[in-house]
Amino acid sequence: MIKQAQGIVGVDTDGDAGPQTWKAIYKRIIGHDATTNDLDTIIRAVQKAVHVFVDGDAGSQTWTAILANLTANPANTNPTPVATGDADTQKVDERSERNISTLQPQVQPLARMLVNRAAAAGITIKVISALRTYAEQDELFAQGRTKPGRIVTNARAGFSNHNFGLAFDIGIFEGTDYIEESPRYKTVGGIGKAIGLSWGGDWISIQDEPHFELRPGWASDLSETAMLAVLRERKESGESFFA
Ligand SMILES: [Zn+2]
Repeated sequence: MIKQAQGIVGVDTDGDAGPQTWKAIYKRIIGHDATTNDLDTIIRAVQKAVHVFVDGDAGSQTWTAILANLTANPANTNPTPVATGDADTQKVDERSERNISTLQPQVQPLARMLVNRAAAAGITIKVISALRTYAEQDELFAQGRTKPGRIVTNARAGFSNHNFGLAFDIGIFEGTDYIEESPRYKTVGGIGKAIGLSWGGDWISIQDEPHFELRPGWASDLSETAMLAVLRERKESGESFFA
């Protein structure tokens, strides 16, 4: 079983699961490189993602679940971004870069890639909003309720992915003109999904075409509400959002 899994993730099929194997499995199942070298943490994250008992000790149950995941889901629900060329990693405009710098390190290259790939498709986008602190979110929530203005959000502090640096909003621009509505938002949505981002235009309740977010691998089966609850806990305890 180990050899089979190794074959699928493209490492030496020696039947001996060391760091190289686990990192490749982690990347394939969770959707991005492990941010730690600690094998125990990596194994536990994979066990959590494939829904087996999390003990850091991979037995036949774990390997069966890993294989099932790898074979049932070759493309993965949280795909690894396609290998990045220079064009993808190029710095973008100043405004976008300023906002991108507030995002989690795992999200930053994807935001940059989205801007670059949209540009390659002839669409100028900028990242116009990214991290919102709890205080900023509360301020926004108050608008139209206890403060003047129209209601712009239903999310209190801790109830938006923007509060965790996982989400960002883009705007389409023609020269310096911000284009609020355009069918091109859908095109950009497709580009974002192809590189592993979730797109707000796919939401069923309130569609939010300018919105993109990176869902951690462990959240792939969770509702937005359930994911946010875990994120609030992790923020409180200072835990990584991705491990
Ligand atoms: Zn948003």
